[in-house]
Amino acid sequence: MPPSDNTKAIPDVQEAMPLFEGDLEKKLKEEVSVETLNKPYKMEIVWRNVAIMLFVHAGGLYGLYLLITQAKWQTWISTYLWYAMSGIGITAGAHRLWSHKSYKAKLPLQMILLFMNCTAMQDDVIQWSRDHRVHHKWTETDADPYNALRGFFFCHVGWLLCKKHPAVKEMGAKIDMSDLANDPLLRIQRKFYKPLALFCCFILPTLVPVLFWGESLWVSYFTMGLFRYALTLNMTWTVNSLAHMFGSKPYDKHIEPTQNLTCMIGAFGEGWHNYHHSFPWDYRASEYAWKINATTPFIDFFTWIGWAYDRKIASHEMIQRKRARTGQDPSTVKLKYVYG
Ligand code: ZN
Ligand code: ZN
Repeated sequence: MPPSDNTKAIPDVQEAMPLFEGDLEKKLKEEVSVETLNKPYKMEIVWRNVAIMLFVHAGGLYGLYLLITQAKWQTWISTYLWYAMSGIGITAGAHRLWSHKSYKAKLPLQMILLFMNCTAMQDDVIQWSRDHRVHHKWTETDADPYNALRGFFFCHVGWLLCKKHPAVKEMGAKIDMSDLANDPLLRIQRKFYKPLALFCCFILPTLVPVLFWGESLWVSYFTMGLFRYALTLNMTWTVNSLAHMFGSKPYDKHIEPTQNLTCMIGAFGEGWHNYHHSFPWDYRASEYAWKINATTPFIDFFTWIGWAYDRKIASHEMIQRKRARTGQDPSTVKLKYVYG
């Protein structure tokens, strides 16, 4: 099932989502209100979130210790599979389907993705997508929720530990979310998000090893629950941190997003991030469908059985034009394999 059949190549830049090329910070200052502009920004830490993240990471490290020293081999496999399921619930679901509308999914696939998304516990899809759409529109400005110019810690996890910058709030409220806000399935997820996420992210994965191969409840909770959750979180966050700081820029040297190998592997193909910011509506999130890109075969499989359709891709000519116009000089690149 190569992605060539049943894909919609976008023939021209005009048909694509318009990308602003210029001084974004300057444009933001023109669009944001005078109150926001004049409000001196003071970072306010949300201590409740700090406590939760400390607990998740300490518990996750202990879970890794238990995985190495006590867990049954079946628990190893199921921890990996649950990590893959929750990761792809973000990448194929919240990201490529709902935030970017880069392909369409029939109801059964939407329900599968929504379940997988709940296992990741990274906010409901509507909230996740709002943050993400603002990130794309205002990348690396004050209105970007995970602005990488504020440093590695901030764009990796820090943004979740403090109150949002007023520009994020203001521009986030202006982003059109009507398509998702009117989706009945997403509204149900949002309404019952806490119990749904607690069940799918902690209760269910803890029970599976206990009921099916007699794993101890203690080991199961720390491995399948906390370790797997912390791993999925950190791997997803590498998209905002590693893939905005380290790597090559074959498509646009003027933006911060990069091609980052660690992120490609850990976040199931999302590390082709210089490409993704250049062509955000391409369902592959990369020029290459199946090269270190686990999410794309997943979508292609569901296309093959008829549950996914209308996958958008950038045409080869369009990609080459972009490379020639704004790409980094290939002779200056060290890791050629992911430069393409
Ligand atoms: Zn990004
Ligand atoms: Zn995106």
